[in-house]
Amino acid sequence: MNAASKGRIVKIAGPLIIADGMRDANMFDMVRVSDRRLIGEIIEMHGSRASIQVYEETSGLGTGEPVESVGEPMSVELGPGLIGSIFDGIQRPLDDIKKIAGNNLQKGIEVPSLKRDKKWSFKPTVKVGDSVIGGDIIGTVDETDIVLHKIMTPNGLSGRVKSIEEGEFTVDQTVCVIADGKGNEHELRLMQKWPVRKGRPYAKKLSPDMPLITGQRVVDCLFPIAKGGVAAIPGPFGSGKTVTQHQLAKWAEADIIVYIGCGERGNEMTDVLNEFPELIDPHTGKSLMERTVLIANTSDMPVAAREASVYTGITIAEYFRDMGYSVALMADSTSRWAEALREMSGRLEEMPGDEGYPAYLGSRLAQFYERAGRVLANGSDGREGALSVIGAVSPPGGDISEPVSQATLRIVKVFWGLDASLAYQRHFPAINWLTSYSLYADSLSDWYKENVAEDWPDMRARFIAILHEEAELMEIVKLIGMDSLSASDRIKMETARSIREDFLHQLAFHEVDTYSSMKKQLYMMRLILQLHDESDDAASKGADVDSLSQLEVREKIGRFKYTPEERIDEEYEKASREISAEIDKLLDSRKEEV
Ligand code: ADP
Ligand code: MG
Repeated sequence: MNAASKGRIVKIAGPLIIADGMRDANMFDMVRVSDRRLIGEIIEMHGSRASIQVYEETSGLGTGEPVESVGEPMSVELGPGLIGSIFDGIQRPLDDIKKIAGNNLQKGIEVPSLKRDKKWSFKPTVKVGDSVIGGDIIGTVDETDIVLHKIMTPNGLSGRVKSIEEGEFTVDQTVCVIADGKGNEHELRLMQKWPVRKGRPYAKKLSPDMPLITGQRVVDCLFPIAKGGVAAIPGPFGSGKTVTQHQLAKWAEADIIVYIGCGERGNEMTDVLNEFPELIDPHTGKSLMERTVLIANTSDMPVAAREASVYTGITIAEYFRDMGYSVALMADSTSRWAEALREMSGRLEEMPGDEGYPAYLGSRLAQFYERAGRVLANGSDGREGALSVIGAVSPPGGDISEPVSQATLRIVKVFWGLDASLAYQRHFPAINWLTSYSLYADSLSDWYKENVAEDWPDMRARFIAILHEEAELMEIVKLIGMDSLSASDRIKMETARSIREDFLHQLAFHEVDTYSSMKKQLYMMRLILQLHDESDDAASKGADVDSLSQLEVREKIGRFKYTPEERIDEEYEKASREISAEIDKLLDSRKEEV
């Protein structure tokens, strides 16, 4: 740890202040500004001058006021009490701040991130004399009904357990003493700290060959994300970025959700706060808040803290990954963070890059997304954890040729492109099936074959092919009309319509449709393709295409998504029989005519 360094404010420019007399401070040190003790971080050093990004409102500050470096980097507190919490960008719990300061966030308010008065029941999993290495689990705390919080030996420490106690402890009481090889003793608490800008270490990165199932058909079927994968959702205002992120936070098969509301409207966060406690996680039967950590740095909060909020969020997410959990992190929106970087860079008078964004925009975003991954955690038990990251991007006017979208697309492996015209037609989720992609699809196909159906990858490929062919056929139809199409092309158009309207269209706010199991998705794909193949076959035997496109069973397929999960087996069998029966009938009546 560095010695604390004290200086004076020489210049104030919005959220940026320059302090002199800071020679002993270091880049990225956390600082306290003025007697109000506002929290900031050093983002540039020139000799004894430090440029400090202040995470709280700076109005009213004056030159000459004191600035103190605390001699360590911005860190978060990691331990029991994270789950179910709502933090601001610098990990202050919003409920405690409100209790102290009312609704207006006061400046420099000092509240610990994790509650100091709450006692947790700690159960050791190692005994005196055991040897441990960094990452080893020494005991557990039941943090919520569904989250078992594993207390880990801090990274870099190894030795023998000298003492360990079972019982009720606050996060800052010693529960275990480790004696290292040199005989030095280290007291372990339920809580540890970690600097936010530094990725937490792990033993090994694993390949992304398991999907993060989301219950959203367009995602799971067409553009899947791997556990530990990275995805971006770019889209113009009102196209459904936030609703999509909320859907993923609600339904993704993850043990832990970290949701960062970054620079977007406060009422979206309020929606989460109102909805999540009420919603029941289908995998555990418990409230969604019991596996969720919320970070709120909404548009009414200091701009500079947007940057802190994404680092705070991802560090918390890595910590749960290290316990061996599958963690999904959503950031809404990374563009607001990038705008904060641009503002700060402008004030630092750095050489501007594209559209005024700093030249390091791309590398900053990359460093953030690179913290995702499926990993073998540190420690000797070989546990695997995953951190999947899903960032919303808000390009002005929806034009993704702008720098933030472009920089993001170079990094992420999944692109769910939201389309204003689809949203306008109320096709939700408005994910454009022609431009979106997932680079994980191939590495995930074995998983789908083994866990869903052998022919899943083939069916998926057919869906994609039919949708692309539809786009080409539409061009032809525009020029020379529907009549010019062959019977088989007209059937293709009909199937594509069904894929779009019956399958891809999925209402977030419909009680049943909000989530589709993999089995349901499989049944829907099977029915759509069965109808397609049997129609094609019937047409080749002379059946009339108009009649084929008006079969009654089409309506049944269209309504299949609203079938409650417990009835899908039965309804699938029925619909499948009806497809064949109706087509047979059509062929029979044709024979009679002939
Ligand atoms: P953005 O965050 O991109 O500005 P929102 O996520 O707030 O857009 O979505 C705008 C509106 O679109 C929502 O209020 C909702 O009415 C509608 N919407 C978006 N996605 C869905 C969906 N999957 N199901 C139903 N409605 C949706
Ligand atoms: Mg939004």
